[in-house]
Amino acid sequence: MAKGRKTAIIGAGPAGCVAAYEATRSGRKVVLFEKEKAVGGRTLTHRSGGHVLDTGAGFFTNFYPRLERYNRELGLERDVVRLSRQNVLISGDQVAPLALGSPLSFFRFPLVGASDKLRMIAVTLARMRFRGIDLADPASLGRLDTGSIAEDARKFLGENVYHYLVRPGIEPFWYFSCEDVSRSLYIGLQARAADAVFFTYNSGMDSFCRRLAEPLEVRTGSGVTSIVEKGRRFHVNFSGKGESFDEIILATTANVALRLSANMSDSVVSENQKAFLKSQTYAANVMASYRLPRGLLDDSDTRIPCGAGENPVAAITVNSDKRKSQTDEDLISIYLRGDEAIRLLKSSKKDAFAGARQLAEMVDSRLAGLPLQPFFLKQRGNAIPVHAVGRYLRAATFLQRQSGPVVFAGDYLANATVEGAIYSAQSAVAALVRG
Ligand SMILES: Cc1cc2nc3c(=O)[nH]c(=O)nc-3n(C[C@H](O)[C@H](O)[C@H](O)COP(=O)(O)OP(=O)(O)OC[C@H]3O[C@@H](n4cnc5c(N)ncnc54)[C@H](O)[C@@H]3O)c2cc1C
Repeated sequence: MAKGRKTAIIGAGPAGCVAAYEATRSGRKVVLFEKEKAVGGRTLTHRSGGHVLDTGAGFFTNFYPRLERYNRELGLERDVVRLSRQNVLISGDQVAPLALGSPLSFFRFPLVGASDKLRMIAVTLARMRFRGIDLADPASLGRLDTGSIAEDARKFLGENVYHYLVRPGIEPFWYFSCEDVSRSLYIGLQARAADAVFFTYNSGMDSFCRRLAEPLEVRTGSGVTSIVEKGRRFHVNFSGKGESFDEIILATTANVALRLSANMSDSVVSENQKAFLKSQTYAANVMASYRLPRGLLDDSDTRIPCGAGENPVAAITVNSDKRKSQTDEDLISIYLRGDEAIRLLKSSKKDAFAGARQLAEMVDSRLAGLPLQPFFLKQRGNAIPVHAVGRYLRAATFLQRQSGPVVFAGDYLANATVEGAIYSAQSAVAALVRG
């Protein structure tokens, strides 16, 4: 019986907020715990000095049907703005504009030869047959979960296209390496690339979580330190206090979910579930954002370094490309990935700002001499779950088999997107409702 059941949801990112919203709808009394001072998780927006800066997720697409439904339901459609599809790829001295879905820009793109382009077109057309893949559902992605992105791209497109077209379409947005991740994500994206449209919320990406959480009982600044099984109930300890619940939804990253469930009995959280949580790895990301006077840059297009070898600078973005600021300043953000991101995770703010700028200046000559003022820094060790080959299938099994009173939600159980987090949350609540 759902009615009257008291449910604790740990973590108020997209997965936790959706889970709380849906569990409330199913008649449960829900309390949402969040260790940070605000809801949003990895979609958190930083608002200061007239700027609205996304610190994690920055956009969604026209193939996020679940998010679209919530946008309608929550009255968020008015806040949605369409984004440019133009990027600028950089390789050594070459600077090459590329607009996704524009044949003219593709044919003019100088970093790949004519025969490679023809092969790319043929493979992309053939991949349209996978348009039906649900990019948020690990069972759907599992159909293609048999090799890495790198293996697939090298086999069907060759080394050059892999480094100059495939990697720049994945690594600057997910920060992991194409060598490590299942090809399912890439094939699903390839099938949708031609008519992909990108959007954001004018008031910041965390508007989704903020709106979902409005009617809910949310305890921000309440990091959960432990959950103790007491008979058929669970005692949640947070910020020196405690409270008892009938059910738990753990909607954090896998490492935190493991820590909080490690001592639970096998009948509640099985050894298989714990092993899955333990084996989840993450890619790191550091974002360093700087103020600069408006008008010093020729354009606001995103710069993406590309080519063989590690590209520690994932992307360089300009905030006015997304939304207008209230000030005469703009923001330029440098996103780092791989070993350099890991190296700067524990650095002081001063060192991280200096280190990010130094790396970016090596690939983007516009930055030299610009009067950049440090504005905001985000260092995330667990930025993006690595969906290694075979993992979508394992995640699908995990979601299908889980049942109350303790269930898990989070992007690592679906796909590393807001839409993936939503899928996992809906699935977790469905598991509680099934009983
Ligand atoms: C830099 C970056 C860029 C991205 N870009 C995009 C993008 O453009 N589009 C897109 O769709 N996705 C993007 N993503 C991915 C997207 O942000 C995530 O997939 C999504 O936020 C995952 O949601 P979640 O709820 O599973 O986890 P999270 O958002 O991480 O939420 C988990 C929450 O749990 C809280 N928590 C942790 N421990 C505790 C505790 N002990 N007690 C209470 N609370 C706790 C955390 O503070 C956090 O708020 C990006 C991610 C990053 C890092």
